[in-house]
Amino acid sequence: MRLYIDYGATNFRYQYDNDEVFVFFSSEIDLKEFLDEQISQNKVSFVAISFAGQVANGKIISSPNIGIEPFDIKDYVKQKYNIPLEIENDINCATLAEGFTRISKVLTLFYIGTGLGGGTILGDNTLLRGANFLGGEFGHIPFKKTPFTCGCGRDDCLELSTSGGAILKWTKHFNLELDEVTLTNLKELDEKNATLIYNNFYEGLRLLFHTTLNFIDPDYLIIGGGVAQDETEIVEFLKKEIEKSSYNESRKRFTIEMSSFENGSLEGARLLGN
Ligand SMILES: [Zn+2]
Repeated sequence: MRLYIDYGATNFRYQYDNDEVFVFFSSEIDLKEFLDEQISQNKVSFVAISFAGQVANGKIISSPNIGIEPFDIKDYVKQKYNIPLEIENDINCATLAEGFTRISKVLTLFYIGTGLGGGTILGDNTLLRGANFLGGEFGHIPFKKTPFTCGCGRDDCLELSTSGGAILKWTKHFNLELDEVTLTNLKELDEKNATLIYNNFYEGLRLLFHTTLNFIDPDYLIIGGGVAQDETEIVEFLKKEIEKSSYNESRKRFTIEMSSFENGSLEGARLLGN
């Protein structure tokens, strides 16, 4: 049996082959214990993990949102059980899933959830990883200085203006009263600081969009993540921005679509090791 895992910051999901998906809180999981238990009880032939953190060649490098110490998980399972294991960053997994369902030359995913992440596939399902597995980390492109510190150490990352976490932080910073912190509610509040948060979000998105067009030139741009799913305006905004893009006349192959996956990361994990 093949064991597929999606280890997110909040939820831990797993599935055998095409069977039911089980969901736990990530905070309840010890990954080594979980693997030991599953592999000793079931005939596991392969493990694939989508992981909310930085990974490289089967090693967990860092995971500020999960908090696992770095270790070589691929080697651990290989040495102890002689079973192959593949692990990939969760947004990269989601990008693989998007690429699998489309005929595309270069596909980029913007993932706008609590954080701002993304991934790019350059033909033949090859992920843009970079020399240190930090390639395509859009969320840390410098933008406006903020009173916050990003997980990477800077205070001006795009993620601090253009993400679900950012609009929460800013709303708290300005002591704004909202039943639910969403872009629509910020806009409708019609208050100076709320408008500033709203405008900064879209200004950051505009920078990211045009940077991506000029730097990567994808034929598919997929928009995913909780914030993007709740705010249909985001896709509409980007569709208008295309008109204003450089070399717009030459940009014949370009499509923007919403992600159609409920859980692209787990779908992407299923594609690892193929
Ligand atoms: Zn950062």
